[in-house]
Amino acid sequence: MRRLLIVGNWKMNKTASEAVAFIRAFQERMSASPHAEVVIAPPFTALESARNTLGPSSWISLGAQDVHWETKGAFTGEVSAPMLRELGCRYVIVGHSERRTFFGERDENIQKKVLASLRHGLSPILCVGESMAEREAGQTESVVTAQLSGGLAGLTKQDLATVTIAYEPIWAIGTGQSATTEQAVAVHRSIRLFIETSWDSKTASAIRILYGGSVTPKNIESLLASDAIDGALVGGACLIPESFVTIILFAQIQRV
Ligand code: PEP
Repeated sequence: MRRLLIVGNWKMNKTASEAVAFIRAFQERMSASPHAEVVIAPPFTALESARNTLGPSSWISLGAQDVHWETKGAFTGEVSAPMLRELGCRYVIVGHSERRTFFGERDENIQKKVLASLRHGLSPILCVGESMAEREAGQTESVVTAQLSGGLAGLTKQDLATVTIAYEPIWAIGTGQSATTEQAVAVHRSIRLFIETSWDSKTASAIRILYGGSVTPKNIESLLASDAIDGALVGGACLIPESFVTIILFAQIQRV
């Protein structure tokens, strides 16, 4: 059974004290645990205060927005998987398109980040997605498949059991122009088929594939109406407690 997963990617927003205020406001609005699994991914600097505010038995998991592939050493400015684990992170976003675009991340290093996460007990959320020019050139499937085969190279079936894929078309991120449910479903199906062909059908039917790109309280219901979509990676709309709560409340479906 694939449990729906809603991940809030805060990007470079909220100081440590703003994170505390957000979590308190969120918890006031959402006291009971939802059907869906919920993850928030604050900036590194807010992880500790977020963890302390959530408390030890929270149903909200912590995620990081990036990780370095080495455990420690001379990598100024970087943060390793053991550091994130000790801060209470369970998840880590890897290969977000903003990191690919602004920081030159390539599949080769993204794959090393995926492997390092798995080695240290973090569940990677691997982001893939095409630009508008690639979509218009009919290259969506080949671009996404190349990102998957690069980012997941060398992983075993057991590894895949702790990986989540997030399909995030670049043209939909932060633009207010979400993919339609049909567009998202078509790519999700091709991702699942790729997993089936490269590993096996059991692995493919177990892996969660999220959609990300201008998800809002208005479009979440239609996106989750398809059982090809196992949740959402939410940027802008996760920064406001009311809209993040509304998105989570729509994700009340149990998946088989
Ligand atoms: C994202 O940050 O991954 C994202 C999808 O952002 P937004 O929801 O703002 O488009």
